[in-house]
Amino acid sequence: MRQSRSSSNASISSSEEPENQQLFVKLPSGETLSLLLPTDTSLPTLLHLLSLRTSAPLISLRLLYAGKHLTSATSSSPSNPLHQTPSSPTLQTLSIPPNATLLLTLPILGGMPPPKKQRCTFKDCKDAAQRIVGDCSFCSGHYCGKHRMLEDHVCSGLEDCKAEGRERNKITLEGERTNVIRGV
Ligand SMILES: [Zn+2]
Ligand SMILES: [Zn+2]
Repeated sequence: MRQSRSSSNASISSSEEPENQQLFVKLPSGETLSLLLPTDTSLPTLLHLLSLRTSAPLISLRLLYAGKHLTSATSSSPSNPLHQTPSSPTLQTLSIPPNATLLLTLPILGGMPPPKKQRCTFKDCKDAAQRIVGDCSFCSGHYCGKHRMLEDHVCSGLEDCKAEGRERNKITLEGERTNVIRGV
């Protein structure tokens, strides 16, 4: 009885329970996450997990291994169209070995970072707008401490406001006058 089970043809065994394997994922922040996952963890699952860990939107996450992008789409094997790959690649089918280090990237790098601080709406002002108190309800602008008053940012809503007030005064006056006339 000669059992030649070399490690090279271990892929033949199909109905074995998936083992856990350790993975390292380098985050854009420079941190490295260490994950212990079953070898049949699919790539979408892994990405979902990383999305939760990094609180980054799932759709923006990209995984790199050995300089190659790991994508959920298994279209990267056009050489063999007969070979139907399972719907989602797993750690195993992607042949990611245990203790491999994956690189997590966000393609929005170099694009527009999420605006954390709002700038003062006033012309050339570079100051940060004040939260809530810097909001002008007349022109719906956001202003810094120097420009948050209507007069300071020459509020576009101010003219309307004045005009409206004048108009109202006129109406009141006229109304009073009519009343007076009527009263006579
Ligand atoms: Zn300002
Ligand atoms: Zn205003």
